[in-house]
This record gives sequence, structure tokens and C-alpha cells, in this order.
Amino acid sequence: MLSCKQIVEHGSDYIEKDMGFWRKVEMKLHLMICVHCRRYVRQLKRTINMLSRGRYYAPSEEQVEQLKQQYQEVNGKR
Ligand SMILES: [Zn+2]
Repeated sequence: MLSCKQIVEHGSDYIEKDMGFWRKVEMKLHLMICVHCRRYVRQLKRTINMLSRGRYYAPSEEQVEQLKQQYQEVNGKR
């Protein structure tokens, strides 16, 4: 089973790229049981969609980092 940390690390790959079939299944399984990661991936997806409509195709490293930090903050409070 993947950890939340792994989901956060590979979140953008999951949305943007083709990862291995089993990897994807593992991600999906985790997202099914973990509401925090579900929220994180949804927000990440929204960010990527928003940016891809504009000039940029992908979010910058900085923005991904920011999202990760936000996520970790939320998780740390629990
Ligand atoms: Zn999780």
C-alpha cells in the first residue's frame, strides 16, 4: 500500500503522465480510502487544468511545492 507521502510525491505524474498500470491501481486504491489524498489530488488536478488553459501547460515546481506544503500542513494538524 502506498503512503500518503508517496501520493503527494507522485500526484502530478498520476494526473499528467502515464504511469505503470499497477502503480495507477495502487494510487486509485489509496485515493479510495484516504480522503486527504483525494482532496489533494483534486486540488492538484484543478491547478493543472487552470494553468493548462492559460499560457502554461504545467504548474511550476514552485506551485507544486506550495501545494505539497499546504497539504502537509493540513495533515499535520490532525
Ligand atoms: Zn493518503
